[in-house]
Amino acid sequence: MSNHTRLHKDTARRVNTRYLSAERVAEIINRKGIAECLAGVASYITQDFLRWTDFDKCPRMANHSEVGVIELMPVSDARSYAFKYVNGHPSNYRYNLPTVMAFGVLADVATGTPELISELTITTAIRTAAMSAVAARALARPGSKTMALIGNGAQSEFQALAFHHLLGIEMFHLFDIDAGATDKLVANLNRLGLGSRRFDSTREAVTGCHIVTTVTADKTNATILTPEMIEPGMHINGVGGDCPGKTELHADVLRLGPVFCEFEPQSRIEGDMQQMPADFPVTEIWQVLSGQATGRTSPEQVTIYDSVGFALEDYSALRYMRDVAAELKMTETISLIPALANPKNLFGFLGGNRGEQTPVPAEVALAA
Ligand code: NAD
Repeated sequence: MSNHTRLHKDTARRVNTRYLSAERVAEIINRKGIAECLAGVASYITQDFLRWTDFDKCPRMANHSEVGVIELMPVSDARSYAFKYVNGHPSNYRYNLPTVMAFGVLADVATGTPELISELTITTAIRTAAMSAVAARALARPGSKTMALIGNGAQSEFQALAFHHLLGIEMFHLFDIDAGATDKLVANLNRLGLGSRRFDSTREAVTGCHIVTTVTADKTNATILTPEMIEPGMHINGVGGDCPGKTELHADVLRLGPVFCEFEPQSRIEGDMQQMPADFPVTEIWQVLSGQATGRTSPEQVTIYDSVGFALEDYSALRYMRDVAAELKMTETISLIPALANPKNLFGFLGGNRGEQTPVPAEVALAA
């Protein structure tokens, strides 16, 4: 018997992968409080963006169809690897399904062991809103009090809550082409005690606002915002233009002020910036957060955050949910990886015997 085999004999190592279902994440958020979760994820994102160069980064891998996209988003540092599976199907409401659905994994780089598998549909809404607020804190005019929310679907309450709790926004101007989506948002904001007014067009909704968030879903080159709608000093938080052929801002809006993004190689493909030439100037937001680049330079300046969603934000959000689940003693585990007495005898696991002398199960022997 070799040393390797002897080492592992009788010591099946059980891998307990932590598991966070959608229900469990909702429970965690309710117990912790959504304001605290948004602040916590914003803080984890900031910490991770401040050590930007530690991460192995790449643009996400996208598989497109006529009606949507399915994407894989990996990132790693020396300790952890994370990926997110996420789709974007703007017509999904026809099937009573959300536009965006996601799950993800945190794994140990040293062994490749999956440590956490989690829902990321709710968590994506939290992390996207937290990321928008992190960028706006660095770019919007200090003292901003009003925000237009164009697109009143699944992400919208989370955006409103992040801007209320992390920036002090008090009034939301709402517009959606689907009046039912605005009805839902008004009702939810009322319940939350947040002020809102609904409008009949984007133009009317954005007038006089300090911040404009566009979070619409349509797989087309839309022009939700056109240059004449933009007032001096506005900060634009463009969230819905996040895929080739799916934009929200007229190209001339991007010429009204400095443009900031997450990870430039990905944003040039997917962001509203995809409309601009390859040498169009853009600044990665981590550079502003770390003081290496300037954000807003005057109260009159228009600033544009061209958000697409980057894997590092999901890494931060997964870490946050893992830590809070542990703090609240709400961690569940699942058996995702077979526990083997001899890691070279994977076949033996089929027989239910994790020891050395595993008999071949009858059905397997017959099939062979
Ligand atoms: P959703 O389908 O629930 O809501 C989108 C809303 O936009 C719908 O109510 C729709 O009626 C409205 N809309 C479509 N066209 C419009 C228009 N021209 N004017 C006004 N409203 C319009 O989708 P969601 O989950 O809220 O996501 C919104 C967008 O944000 C999607 O495009 C999604 O891909 C994107 N997203 C981006 C990030 C990121 O990190 N940047 C993260 C998550 C989602």
